[in-house]
Order: sequence, then structure tokens, then C-alpha cells
Amino acid sequence: MPPIPAWMQRKRVTIPISVILLSMVAQVLSQAKEQSLLMQGSAAAKSDGTLPPQPVCPTPANPDPLLGARTRKPGRWVGTTPMAKNSPIVVMAGHADSQGMDSAGTPGFAVGMKRQAPMDARMRDELYWNLKVQAAVVRLGKARALKISAYNPPALTIRNNNHPKTNWSQARVRSAKGDYILEIHFDAYSPYGFGSGLIPALNRPLNTIDESLGKAFGRFPRLFRGGLGGPRRGIGILEIGMLEPPLEQKLRNPNTQRQTIDCLALRVVDALEKGVNQSPDEGGNGPQGSDPQTNSADG
Ligand SMILES: [Zn+2]
Repeated sequence: MPPIPAWMQRKRVTIPISVILLSMVAQVLSQAKEQSLLMQGSAAAKSDGTLPPQPVCPTPANPDPLLGARTRKPGRWVGTTPMAKNSPIVVMAGHADSQGMDSAGTPGFAVGMKRQAPMDARMRDELYWNLKVQAAVVRLGKARALKISAYNPPALTIRNNNHPKTNWSQARVRSAKGDYILEIHFDAYSPYGFGSGLIPALNRPLNTIDESLGKAFGRFPRLFRGGLGGPRRGIGILEIGMLEPPLEQKLRNPNTQRQTIDCLALRVVDALEKGVNQSPDEGGNGPQGSDPQTNSADG
């Protein structure tokens, strides 16, 4: 059989090409829709031109449409030590080096109660989401010109707490230098969890970043459970919220996952930004806009 001329080859594939074209048009339309959604959000974000487009996020409230309930066991501390704008902030993921150990973190409601598959078989769901939020916080924090970085241990299981590469060991060293150490966590589901809030570090005076995070997320008692290992080494433990519906469903749903993570990270970065270079009396107010004295009583 002689070779088919080029024009005939094109003709023979006319139908497949039109199908491909249709699918390309659909893809472009869908991207345009996504872009338009993001642009709506970007109009709502600060117009300094340096920020990546932000999705539209739920307005903070208590109880919160994004985080759920704040800790049902509130603390009354106030953070007043000023933090400089260029203070290094190190963001860690809770339980990043303790998988397969007693302190592996919560499996979450979906796995723990509904017997759904974990997001990643190597780790508890809490760590999976801690890592996602950690990465988003660092990305958004850098866009806000914060001096912010991530620390991740080299292995998911490090049995010796005093190994130099654990979160705890790194926190002890870096906190002594004056770095602010923030460890991202999700709390257990009901009735075991308490809700969102900051368990502040115990090795230093409470500062304006603690104060700002306490306003935005709530405050756990300073000596929660008698004083945890992380806070004793300089870690501020931020419980984002209980790992249960509706927050957990929004995280697990592929259609809402990215926006949910970005909105959670934005809450954290907003609070960090307000916490640096400010005394608590000078506009460090969280979404409620109340002063620290009255707000500290309700967590
Ligand atoms: Zn945790």
C-alpha cells in the first residue's frame, strides 16, 4: 500500500482532533473559572501587589466556620514581650519524627471512627495535614516578607528524643537563640480533643506573637497537661482545630482541599504578621478587635 498523503492523514484524524479541541476548550474554560475565583479573592486581599492570589476565606468568628470550636479549656495568659519584625520564625509539623510511636498524633475522625483509609499509609492523618499547613504557612509568610522557614526532621521515626535532628532538639537550640518556634497540630476529634488554640512555650516570657496567635486561635492554659515536652523546649503548639467534620471533610474533599489549607495558613500568617514588631496595645488586635485583658478570659 502506498503511503497516505499528508492531507489525507489530517482528514482521517479530523474527528479525534475535534474531540481533543473540545476537551481543550473545556479545560481552558475551567481554568478561567478557577482564575476568576482566585481573582475575586485577590481583590479581597491586601493590595500591596506582592501577595499571591488568595482564595476567599471564611470570616473569623467564635465558634469559627473554618476552625470549629476554640479550646473548651481556656487559659488566661497575656503575651507582652515585643518581637522584632525580623525575628526568625521556624515552622514545624507536629509529630514529624514520631510516627509508629505513642506520640504519633491523632488519626482523625475519618480514620479513627469511620474506618476510612489514611491519607498516607506511612503516617497518621494529623501529620499529613500538619505538613500541608506547614508548607502553606511558610510559602504565604515569605510572600508577606516574614523571616520564616520550615524545619523538617530527616526521618518519620526518631526514637531518641535527644537526637540532634528531632523537632524537640532543634527547638531547644533555636529557641535559645531567640527564634520563634511554631509547631502546627490538629487536635483529636470529639470527645477527646479540646478545640483550637495556642499552647505557648514555657522556656521564655510570653511575647507578642504568642498574644496574636492566642487572639486568632484561642489560648490553652500555659501549663496544659502539666506542661508538655514541646513547650518546655521552646515550642509554641498551635492546635489548628479538631480533626473532625466539617473541617476534616473540607480537607479530604479534593475540590475544597487546597482552598481550605490556604485559608488555614492565611489565619496563621495574618496572626504572625500582627504579632511581630508590635506591643499588644498597639493594633495587635485579632479579628474580634478586643483588648487582650478581656479576650484572655474567654481563651
Ligand atoms: Zn498533635
